[in-house]
Amino acid sequence: MTTAPLRLRLDAAALVANWRLLARLSGTAACGAAVKANGYGLGARGVVQRLAAAGCRDFFVASWAEARDLADLGVTVSVLHGLRAEDLADRPPHVRPVLGTPEQVQRWREAGGGACDVMVDTGMNRLGVSPAQVAAGLLDGLAIETLMSHLVSADEEVDLNARQLHAFAALAGHSSARRLSLANSSGLALGADYHFDLTRPGIALYGGRQRAPHAGIAQVVTPEAQILQRRRVTAGETIGYNATYTAPRDMEVAILNLGYADGYLRCFSNKGRALAGDAVLPVVGRVSMDLTAICVDAAPTLAEGDWVSMAYDLPETAALSGLSQYELITGLGARFDRVWA
Ligand SMILES: *Cc1c(COP(=O)(O)O)cnc(C)c1O
Repeated sequence: MTTAPLRLRLDAAALVANWRLLARLSGTAACGAAVKANGYGLGARGVVQRLAAAGCRDFFVASWAEARDLADLGVTVSVLHGLRAEDLADRPPHVRPVLGTPEQVQRWREAGGGACDVMVDTGMNRLGVSPAQVAAGLLDGLAIETLMSHLVSADEEVDLNARQLHAFAALAGHSSARRLSLANSSGLALGADYHFDLTRPGIALYGGRQRAPHAGIAQVVTPEAQILQRRRVTAGETIGYNATYTAPRDMEVAILNLGYADGYLRCFSNKGRALAGDAVLPVVGRVSMDLTAICVDAAPTLAEGDWVSMAYDLPETAALSGLSQYELITGLGARFDRVWA
């Protein structure tokens, strides 16, 4: 198979080290992994295989289609978006729905039940049954493995964190749940009160840093692109669509096989950077659908066919672009080869 002219370099050692750090920060709680949206863009199968080998036992996806893609790996998967009528027909083994409405609870009971998870809404007003419904007996008799809730603003210092914590803690003992789970990546950094029995980090596994305890989290994802053409641009000429960049001097430019259709979005126009060895190579002009131009004055030997890395440290790149750390990786497209090293 020929390789693509663009690839994601995925650092397996960093992924595993990040999970181990998050597991340590989770104290006595087990540490799972959110692998929805194709493992946040990295490729869910590659992520699950590596984390399962490291000892991770609880994986979270959004849909049943995502769960089916992992079925042959033999890991336990929870489907965060619950159980539609259409989902009953094709349910692989080792997959539990995270039931989130009375209708879903009813559907699960009628289908014969079995081990399930349940989401309780403690303030997000997104998915989940209410604490009042739990108190009224909605879940009585269900075989619940994990009762969970989700924090609204765990990456911020706000009172809502403690309010959700107390609302969730008050549910203990009101269901058959074997385990309780509240914290995502930033939630597990809020301290032991938030750990309960299981944590569910996502973004920090993949290099996201939102809170001080994440300081040791390492970058996992680096987009790399091949140079299609190197050219000289004369002072006063412009580069790319709508001529947003005018060469201030004669300069050397390389055209990369990477564009906004790959998730390298237009906000990197005249802002993003590529790296080659020690050289920092700024994006010049507008990012187009499939192509991006960089100034290569600092890299005299870079030539057609060579590869460069895009600067993609998640907190830095989020600050530079205005995108969230989540958008930066989940938007990386299908044209990248995903290469684990
Ligand atoms: C996505 C998700 C997570 C992981 O969140 P991060 O902020 O990426 O750590 C945990 N729990 C639920 C319910 C989620 O939807």
